Amino acid sequence: MSDVLVSCVDAGRTFGHGQLAVVAVRGVTCTVGPRSRVALMGPSGSGKSTLLHLMAGLDRPTSGSVGWPQWDEGPFGHPSRVGMVFQGPSLVPAMTALENVAFPLLLEGTSHEEAMARAEESLDLLGLTGLAGKVPDQLSGGQAQRVAVARVVASRPQLIVADEPTGRLDRAAGDRVVDVLLDAAEHLGAGLVLATHDELSARRVEQVWRMGEGELRP
Ligand code: ADP
Ligand code: MG
Repeated sequence: MSDVLVSCVDAGRTFGHGQLAVVAVRGVTCTVGPRSRVALMGPSGSGKSTLLHLMAGLDRPTSGSVGWPQWDEGPFGHPSRVGMVFQGPSLVPAMTALENVAFPLLLEGTSHEEAMARAEESLDLLGLTGLAGKVPDQLSGGQAQRVAVARVVASRPQLIVADEPTGRLDRAAGDRVVDVLLDAAEHLGAGLVLATHDELSARRVEQVWRMGEGELRP
């Protein structure tokens, strides 16, 4: 069976039409496997977020193709085994860390008891048990991002896509977020694609892909 989690073949994404068209991603061919640890680097506007959204199935290519050979598409037409971590704060303010981690599972129809148990397990796995009862206001930016990683882990994805999750954090906090992402990928046996501006974060990941003007550059 194919070992490929996501495969992009000559994939492109253009926003808008005619004179206003912006080619965000062009002619990208790449694959990510279960043991892949990829840092996606490139200047602002080079197409990193757009490519990650394509890989996560949150957006569709306007040319070429993006596919997930191992999975059927999920109920919302995107592959359910992909977990995405965003750059900004993404926790629900009124919920504790534990409830935030459990929330997507409840939405999927998991029972309350099981969702809570899996949320606890995810926080525990990443060494975040101490944060379980805190609300986002009581968390630092780095702690909130680590909780966001735990939330992704709770859904047991096979591919984790993280879009500059350390972009707004200082070095120490950013390093700890990269720690939990690498831990999470290891525990789940998942592939990881991490967009980052930061060379030091990128060096901790085995493969570095560089983007410029929408293209992957060797
Ligand atoms: P990066 O994440 O590397 O900063 P993006 O993928 O966000 O790059 O953006 C790549 C290019 O596509 C930029 O020129 C950006 O302005 C443009 N772009 C991204 N999303 C949209 C959108 N929804 N509509 C129009 N243009 C967009
Ligand atoms: Mg971006």
